[in-house]
Amino acid sequence: MDYKSVKDSEVFISVLMQPSHSNFGGKIHGGYILSLMDQIAFACASKYSGAYCVTASVDTVDFRNPIEIGELVTMKASINYVGRSSMVVGIRVESENIQNGFVKHCNSSYFTMVAKDEEGKTTSVPGLILNSDIDRRRFVKSIRRMEMKKAHSEEYKALDGSTAESLEILSEYNVQVNLSNNNE
Ligand code: GDP
Repeated sequence: MDYKSVKDSEVFISVLMQPSHSNFGGKIHGGYILSLMDQIAFACASKYSGAYCVTASVDTVDFRNPIEIGELVTMKASINYVGRSSMVVGIRVESENIQNGFVKHCNSSYFTMVAKDEEGKTTSVPGLILNSDIDRRRFVKSIRRMEMKKAHSEEYKALDGSTAESLEILSEYNVQVNLSNNNE
């Protein structure tokens, strides 16, 4: 079996934030940042696997700090985990004020990518060589994240959605329940 190291997967981009990517509040659009993250995830997974890759899922993108026009955004990506045809790409996004050198951590996210062959069928990816404690920690964290996601999804499916259960849940939220218009 073919193996590659985390180093072989590393990808890095820096992009200057232009006014054309700002929202009405004058900050950079979250959607633009997401699009750049998807591109770097694709580049990282394709570089590692040597195959065309598609995005299967994205594990939480929480925007911790807004990004201003004129800042230099840097994204660093590497493979955290590999399955048979799937890979988890970890991405760290930072934004730098180039005038004063101040760097903000904007988010860290984990994209699951799947390698495809020419016919669009899933294809196997190289095994991962873990050369450091950081590589080992990130691989195990990915396994834990997947286990937690599976447990959460089973718990979610088990919610029966009955009226009594729903009303109890809704009683704690900022809603007014008006079932007189119910057409179910
Ligand atoms: P971590 O995943 O808990 O280590 O959280 P971090 O915020 O430090 O990093 C998020 C992800 O970004 C990591 O899992 C890596 O995949 C990637 N990353 C972080 N630092 C670097 C770096 O220096 N180079 C590259 N290529 N990727 C990095």
